[in-house]
Amino acid sequence: MSRIGVFVCHCGENISRTVDVERVAAQVGMLPGVAFSTDYKYMCSDPGQTLLKRAIQEQRLSHVVVAACSPRMHEKTFRKAVEAAGLNPFLCEMANIREHCSWVHEDKQEATEKAIEIVGMMVERVKKNRVLPTITVPVTKRSLVIGGGIAGIQAALDIADAGHEVVLVEREPSIGGHMAQLSETFPTLDCSQCIMTPKMVDVANHPKIKLYTYAEIEHVEGYIGNFQVTVRKKARSVDEDRCTGCGVCMEKCPIKKIPNKFDCNRGMRPAIYVPFPQAVPNTPVIDREHCTKFRTGKCGLCQKVCGPGAVDYEQEDQLIVEPVGAIVVATGFDLYSIAEKPKGSPIKGYGEFGHGKLPDVIDGMTFERLASASGPTGGKILRPSDGKEPKQIVFIQCVGSRAREKGISYCSKICCMYTAKHTMLYHHKVHDGQAYVFFMDARTPGKNYDEFWRRSIEEEEAVYIRGMVSRLYQKDDKIVVMGSDISVGVQVEIEADMVVLATAVQPQAGAELLAQKLGISYDKYNFYSEAHAKLRPVECATAGIYLAGACQGPKDIPDTVSQASAAAAKVMTLFAKDKLEREPVVAKVKDAGCVGCFYCKKVCPYGAVEEKEMRDRQGNLVKVVAYVNPGVCGGCGTCQATCPSKSVELDGYTDEQIVAMIEAL
Ligand code: SF4
Ligand code: SF4
Repeated sequence: MSRIGVFVCHCGENISRTVDVERVAAQVGMLPGVAFSTDYKYMCSDPGQTLLKRAIQEQRLSHVVVAACSPRMHEKTFRKAVEAAGLNPFLCEMANIREHCSWVHEDKQEATEKAIEIVGMMVERVKKNRVLPTITVPVTKRSLVIGGGIAGIQAALDIADAGHEVVLVEREPSIGGHMAQLSETFPTLDCSQCIMTPKMVDVANHPKIKLYTYAEIEHVEGYIGNFQVTVRKKARSVDEDRCTGCGVCMEKCPIKKIPNKFDCNRGMRPAIYVPFPQAVPNTPVIDREHCTKFRTGKCGLCQKVCGPGAVDYEQEDQLIVEPVGAIVVATGFDLYSIAEKPKGSPIKGYGEFGHGKLPDVIDGMTFERLASASGPTGGKILRPSDGKEPKQIVFIQCVGSRAREKGISYCSKICCMYTAKHTMLYHHKVHDGQAYVFFMDARTPGKNYDEFWRRSIEEEEAVYIRGMVSRLYQKDDKIVVMGSDISVGVQVEIEADMVVLATAVQPQAGAELLAQKLGISYDKYNFYSEAHAKLRPVECATAGIYLAGACQGPKDIPDTVSQASAAAAKVMTLFAKDKLEREPVVAKVKDAGCVGCFYCKKVCPYGAVEEKEMRDRQGNLVKVVAYVNPGVCGGCGTCQATCPSKSVELDGYTDEQIVAMIEAL
């Protein structure tokens, strides 16, 4: 006979404001099998947990129901407390009377009735819970970091410094990401390359880091502690081991006029190239789309001039399988393109800002390259159309961000600050120039950020105009910018030499596809979703996969670095154990009923379903049935819902339990 204990939480006033918790406790206390029932202000607090543990021992409870918030929030907390009191943790269930009841109702009488029913259902369910043994799986103490920008670099270095091997995979020919493109960084104005390039070199030289650049994730299998990742290392057409980085091939390559993506297409590069002089690795890659040898079979000059014989036109993509125990995703961001509406982009374009066709309307990253000493103009601010120094420059903030009518409602978080920085860089280089900024409001919530923003106005003389631009157009060699200053209620018209748009931060192209390979969730903008916004901000809901940087949402450099170190710390916590305990809530197939249709295998998002041969005593094959690998199963229940012969059962969610809950209503 069960001796169930029910603990009804007030959640401060979150529940008790709408639900009569004392009545719930009294009512469910009368249900068959309930031996003890009480209510308490905060069940998750130390006194709350002590109350629960003491009751288990004093009342000799066999099962526990905690009626409180969502199990997503505190199931682990209460199961731990139950375990500490000597019960199997899976004999404890939570009844959600907050999100499912008090937060969505107003009438106290009706909400209380509903809460009683929710708890009553859980009482019936918990009676049928079984003691579940913990599943342990071994941990491979190597990690994969995807993305070689500042987030990926920081995470990789932290994990490697702790003594664990790291495989770092970067899509571009060099690591460095967007931070390597920046001129100076806010709020300290230190040179981005000066703080970034030593870290890039550390990655290249670290004995624990295996670096794959010009490489992508092809396929991911497995589960926390035991992933098998297939990396596609694209053909560089240059042997990295032989190349000395002398650069002769790039000098001699006759195709020199290919717009360099690293310089936002303002500078040119040859067909065999490194994206920028400080690239890591400093090994060139042949851009096969533009190389004459690949296009026509002629040329081959780079191979002829390469002393060590590193140029290899026959090189092919390689597929390499790397076993890892944890994955850090750090794929970063991209800026919304004003040149055209990218395919699949959720935002509608900015035709009113010149369709991206006016050469002197540029985005923030292009301005960074113009301001950078390593950029196409050697650090001089020169406008693209005629190379003249702009004497009046207009910056427009929130282009794409916070524009619900265009399709993006979020704030890109970094634009207020980098625009303030741009006005400073401009004033430092063009002393007699005037910067204007159209803005809605300034968002400066960071250490020394507001002071920095004020400095751009008070010391660097930027003129801020509170209002949006309605239109801009080319008039002779000027760009006329029309907008309104809502602080004084007047229309403004500025004849500018150059316009810089602070365009929205978006996830990298291909973010959605990578998420599908990894089995992680993403939001409607394709930013990756964390397991819990407040309590698990660097973990994915998929165990063993962590997030760092702007792939999760817009972030500045300090936040990105902090998050990368946090993700690395999570990986190290995982690697601190040799074996990993997994929740035993997994699916099981009843061999007798399984008809071998393998619908379950098709729908399982974790790839947990395998095929198992059933043989008779003579070894003859009788049938092939489904088998769920408990180490891989995520306990989602999809297979159970799909199985046409009802041969799959999920522990804790058996048909018997579901029927018992329905009957309790
Ligand atoms: S491929 Fe050959 S020529 Fe080109 S940088 Fe490497 S060693 Fe020098
Ligand atoms: S419950 Fe079924 S579908 Fe879900 S992970 Fe486990 S085996 Fe796959």
